[in-house]
Amino acid sequence: MQEAAGADLEEEGGGRGGGEGGADEAMACKEEGGKGKPILSLPDDAKKLLSCMLSMTVKCCARCMLGMVKVRDPLIYALSQEEIASSIADSLDEEGRDRCMAETSALACRKGDCCVCMGLLQSDQGEISSQVKEALTTAGYDVDSPCTFMLSLSAPSSIFIRQYLYYYKALEGSGGALGVSCEQKWIELKEVYRLTYGRRIQQVLSWTIDQSSTDSCAGRVKVTMEYRHEESAGMKEVLLEGKSVKRTMRERRERGQRKGNLVEIENIIAVHNVLHGMTPAALLSKFSWPPAAISKEPELTVKVERESVYIGGCYCKYSRKVSQSPWNEAHGELQDSVQTLILKEIAPLYQPEETKFMGSGREDVDGRPVDFNFEKIQELVSNLRPVGRDYVDSIKSSGETKRKTYRALVWTSAPLPPSKLDVLNQMQELAVFQNTPIRVLHRRSLAERKRTVYRMSAERVNDRFFLLDLETEAGTYIKEFVHGDLGRTRPSVGGLLCCEADILQLDVVGVEL
Ligand SMILES: [Zn+2]
Repeated sequence: MQEAAGADLEEEGGGRGGGEGGADEAMACKEEGGKGKPILSLPDDAKKLLSCMLSMTVKCCARCMLGMVKVRDPLIYALSQEEIASSIADSLDEEGRDRCMAETSALACRKGDCCVCMGLLQSDQGEISSQVKEALTTAGYDVDSPCTFMLSLSAPSSIFIRQYLYYYKALEGSGGALGVSCEQKWIELKEVYRLTYGRRIQQVLSWTIDQSSTDSCAGRVKVTMEYRHEESAGMKEVLLEGKSVKRTMRERRERGQRKGNLVEIENIIAVHNVLHGMTPAALLSKFSWPPAAISKEPELTVKVERESVYIGGCYCKYSRKVSQSPWNEAHGELQDSVQTLILKEIAPLYQPEETKFMGSGREDVDGRPVDFNFEKIQELVSNLRPVGRDYVDSIKSSGETKRKTYRALVWTSAPLPPSKLDVLNQMQELAVFQNTPIRVLHRRSLAERKRTVYRMSAERVNDRFFLLDLETEAGTYIKEFVHGDLGRTRPSVGGLLCCEADILQLDVVGVEL
């Protein structure tokens, strides 16, 4: 744990922020340190950089310095500014130690005086945690029940410019002893921020921080710490030479709104790109050093929102009167649908702002003629479970790529001898060409689609009726495959049997997922 400083291997897996480091690790640190506080162990280059930073007259806070020398131990960040300063002093030689502890030291930095973060990393951890708790409580979250959250930071772009300026100035002071290279760059501000405050926020909320990619853990609460600082906004204008880098994005839509409002946001990526592409000399020539003192610290707003929750499962539809979605072209608005019945059960549990229902392909309203039964829906809801984003993607694609099985009751215009059905039973992997059916022509573009009927099995009911089981490629128009759609689907069941055929009932029996 003490080796964290400067060692890239120590970067926490899955991008976790301040959540690491339990009580056992703290003990280990204390025992090894023997002084009851974590020890800072720095590689030589980091020590040199620290010395350069400490010899500058401009004030810089202890956490900004830790980030600059790539310390990733959350236990160190959890200490107060004074304690961190003393840890830094302990890690240096005698001369460095004296410089560190002097009253005029760069580290003797009052809140808001840090030339890099302007106070962002100097707040009291308890205070920041309380602000987060208050924002969550106001938004109606139960902070006492276990939950996972993601902590993100939106910082004024002037801080990023200040990081570069400060770092280049420190290197200048090394007289060339420390070269500029990509490997030498500091830890990103958002990570330093999480290392500083994440741990305490977790304790105050009894929530768990989780910074992993959004795909795997839907349903987290996203807490965004948004800092604004108009006073230093001019630095960005100087950097970008007045070029506009605003971009617009749509806010989350409010209840009753069709679309969210368009808002202008800072394009921070453009700022990073310019900073990254600039030589130290070019950047330093653009700005005066040290930056002008500020009269007011950046202002914090805590924003909270919950990421989408995905719930998946399979359903069996037992009624021909219940469609998949509440609106159906043939029947208009329906009172009951799979969508409304399921959402009615789920909505009280999650109280969502909006819901979306996604089925694997679409099916017609007519299903099995078994009476609809509310207990069935309850049984079905109990089978539902939270799923990841990848499940949703597989549902989307399965509508086009997977196999479906159907059972149809078919009528024929001519009486069929039992042996005639063998024509169908012997078919395998039948390629079917379907022009857009007449019944959907008004909403689908005219095109010919090739689909495969993998398997058919016909069972005679009497001279004019038979049951047909089909396994087809998703997207096959079954009704048209049976009656031929006036020659628009070739071949068809009617065509194969040399008579007219029509479909009387159709059930979806299964969908491959
Ligand atoms: Zn700072």
